[in-house]
Amino acid sequence: MKFCPKCGSLMKKENNYLVCPNCGYKEKIKDANSLLLTENINKSSEITIMEEDYKLYPVDNEVECPKCGNKGAYFWSIQTRAGDEGETKFYRCVKCGYTWRVYD
Ligand SMILES: [Zn+2]
Ligand SMILES: [Zn+2]
Repeated sequence: MKFCPKCGSLMKKENNYLVCPNCGYKEKIKDANSLLLTENINKSSEITIMEEDYKLYPVDNEVECPKCGNKGAYFWSIQTRAGDEGETKFYRCVKCGYTWRVYD
């Protein structure tokens, strides 16, 4: 239960809002579920790159795939969230699609 900060009337819950039936004051309800959701999204988005995107990356012909031994891999780098950790370099074998990362 919450009272309207404007007029002091008892506020009613309406979807995600608390609404004052007297003066119409509206307040968004902060719920813990939405916070959890954004955290999960951040974690899973770390290495989600669309399959199509690989075609746009340059190929390093000097790099050998640790899985199949083929020479040639797409490469790109991602700035880590912390900022001071530097870049993480990724390679993806053009032949077998194996993806690995290298820390500078
Ligand atoms: Zn009110
Ligand atoms: Zn390979």
